[in-house]
Amino acid sequence: MIKPDGVQRGLVSEIIGRFERRGYRLVAMKLVQPSKQLAEQHYDDLRERSFFPVLTDFLSSSPVVAMVWSGEDIVVQGRAMIGATNPLKSAPGTIRGDLAIVTGKNIIHGSDSVESAEKEIALWFNDDELC
Ligand code: ATP
Ligand code: MG
Repeated sequence: MIKPDGVQRGLVSEIIGRFERRGYRLVAMKLVQPSKQLAEQHYDDLRERSFFPVLTDFLSSSPVVAMVWSGEDIVVQGRAMIGATNPLKSAPGTIRGDLAIVTGKNIIHGSDSVESAEKEIALWFNDDELC
């Protein structure tokens, strides 16, 4: 998912292009402004963290691009392409390492396991939106 800062900074095509050029297949995509409730469900595992209210306020503050990508080892490879949570610790060549400097504005979310991906796909998409 390209977060509000990524959309506002005009990084949608840059980010999609990296996944396309690597060889991954776009299965679903939509521009949507999430409700606060959807943002909270999305980051449900972080409810106890101090930054949870700020994080979910931010995610629901303006449109995001929700996407589903398919291909070999996509969850692990996608996280590697995205880089570390803190962009200052993300390697050059990663999305965050090339395009961000602030943890709270790290422009993209990636599912951290196949199980999370399945949960998140069900949260953001209906079955008939997947190609
Ligand atoms: P994401 O789930 O968005 O792909 P991530 O898996 O790298 O990021 P998580 O631990 O799941 O990292 O945290 C979710 C998001 O919460 C981060 O992307 C970041 O925007 C924010 N976040 C994480 N840790 C902090 C922190 N210590 N202070 C502020 N914001 C944080
Ligand atoms: Mg995460």
